[in-house]
Amino acid sequence: MMIRIERQPWEAMLAHARQTYPNECCGAMLGTIQNGQKLVRVAMPLENAFAGAQATRYELRPEDLLAADKAARERQMDLIGIYHSHPDCDAYFSKTDLQNSCPWYSFVVLSIQNGEFHHANSWLPNFEQTEAAKEELTY
Ligand SMILES: [Zn+2]
Repeated sequence: MMIRIERQPWEAMLAHARQTYPNECCGAMLGTIQNGQKLVRVAMPLENAFAGAQATRYELRPEDLLAADKAARERQMDLIGIYHSHPDCDAYFSKTDLQNSCPWYSFVVLSIQNGEFHHANSWLPNFEQTEAAKEELTY
């Protein structure tokens, strides 16, 4: 599997991550899947609902995810994945990220260093949520 993010959603994701820095941002990625290729066409910023320190943690509300799924369908798209940022940290997939993941989504992590975009990775968790494989990401 490969995932490509179009320019507009990509820039929206980066802008969101810079805006919430030094806290983590999170959001939904909507798009299409064709011949094993995922194409992200819309980024939908969602609120980080984590009640504690948001510099190292994010939480999505189930109702926000449902709304994102509905918004995707209205556009004849699918909810392809979730993005979130790692302020001053690498774009790895943490143990908490794994525990809060679902195996059918792509998880794009944006590394933001000193308030600016540094690098990104996309992760595919396995069904047991014990590990995540890196997915080829282009943007
Ligand atoms: Zn994370």
